[in-house]
Amino acid sequence: MQPFVYEGLPSRVVFGQGTLSRLEEELERLGCRRVLVLSTPQQRAQAEQVLAQVGERGAGLFAEAAMHTPVEVTERALRRVEALGVDATVAIGGGSTIGLGKAIALRTDLPQVAIPSTYAGSEMTPILGETRDGIKTTQRTLAVLPETVIYDVDLTLTLPAGLSGTSGINAIAHAVEALYARDRNPVISLMAEEGIAALARSLPVIADTPTDAAARADALYGAWLCGACLGSVGMSLHHKLCHTLGGSFDLPHAETHTVVLPHATAYNAPAAPEAMSRIARALGVKDAAAGLFDLAGAVGAPTSLGTLGFTAEDIDRATEIATRNPYWNPREVEADGIRRLLADAQAGRRPA
Ligand code: NAD
Repeated sequence: MQPFVYEGLPSRVVFGQGTLSRLEEELERLGCRRVLVLSTPQQRAQAEQVLAQVGERGAGLFAEAAMHTPVEVTERALRRVEALGVDATVAIGGGSTIGLGKAIALRTDLPQVAIPSTYAGSEMTPILGETRDGIKTTQRTLAVLPETVIYDVDLTLTLPAGLSGTSGINAIAHAVEALYARDRNPVISLMAEEGIAALARSLPVIADTPTDAAARADALYGAWLCGACLGSVGMSLHHKLCHTLGGSFDLPHAETHTVVLPHATAYNAPAAPEAMSRIARALGVKDAAAGLFDLAGAVGAPTSLGTLGFTAEDIDRATEIATRNPYWNPREVEADGIRRLLADAQAGRRPA
C-alpha cells in the first residue's frame, strides 16, 4: 500500500428524513441565539418556513444567494448581519446558498448550519469559490467549513428530476477524481466507491419517480460521501475542464460536469487502472467511462456539450485555457489529447 496522510475534517452531520425538525436543537448545541437564514430567491418560501420554525432565534432572512457567490451579494448580506447583530447563519439550498454562508463565515467567523437540498456537496468542503468582476477565485480554508450539516431527505423530494440527475452525477465526479487523486487515502477511497454506488443505483429510480423516498435517501447519502471526497483530496483534469467551461464559456455547472465526466474518465483510464476498476465495480459495469456515459443517458441528462451551447469553434480556446495551468493529473495533460476529449464531449460520442 502506498503511504498516505489522512485528516478528518471537523463537521457534524445529522442525516435522515424529517431531520429539519432538529434545527433548534442543533442551534442550541452551538449556542446560537440570533440567526440569519439564507436562500436563493427561488427557495424564499422554504427559507421563510425555517425562519418561522426557529422562533425567537430568527433574526431575519436574506434570500439573494446567487450562482458562483458574487462578492457584491456577500457584501449586502454582511450589512444585514451587522445591522441585525447575527450570531450564526442557516443556509438552506444548494451550492450557491451554502457558498454565501461560507463567504460570510470567512469574513466574520460566524458558525454555520448548512441544510443542503441538492447533491453538489459544498457543505462538506473547506473550499470557497467567489466571483468579483466576472473572475472566479477559489480558496481552501477551514474557516469556511460549516460546523453542522443537516441532511433532510424530505427537502430533496422537490428537487426537479432533471436537476437531480445532473446534480447527482456532479457529486459522482468528486468521487471519481478522489479515487485517482495524488493525495488519495484508503478511507476516502472507500467513501468514494460507496458514494458512486449509492448514486448510481438511486438516480435512475429518481428519474422515474422523483418522490421515491428510499431512492432519495440513498442519493443524499451518496452525495454526502462524495462531498466528503471533494473536501478531503485534490481534484484533477475533470474539475479543471469544468471550471474552464463554466468560467470562460458560461456553461451550467451540474450539466457540464455530467457531460464531461465520461470523457475525462476515458482520458485518465490508461494512467489509473485501479481507480477505473473501482469505479466500474461501483457502477456495476465493465468499463468506467462508458458506464458513466450510460448513467447520464439513463437519468435523461444531456450527453453533449453541443446541447449546452458549446460549439466546435470553441474547442481550441477551451483547450488553450484548460492546459495553461493544469491541476495535477494522473495522465499528462497534453493539448492534442484534450482537444480530442473536448471534441468527443462536444459531439456527445460514447467513450469506447
Ligand atoms: P444551486 O445552489 O445554484 O441551485 C440551483 C437552483 O435549484 C437554485 O435556484 C436553487 O434555489 C434550486 N434548488 C435547490 N434545491 C432545490 C430543491 N430541493 N427543490 C427545488 N429547487 C431547488 O446549484 P448547485 O448545483 O447545488 O450548486 C452549484 C454551485 O455550488 C456552483 O456555484 C458551484 O461552484 C458551487 N459548489 C461549490 C462547492 C464547494 O466545495 N465550494 C462544491 C460544489 C458546488
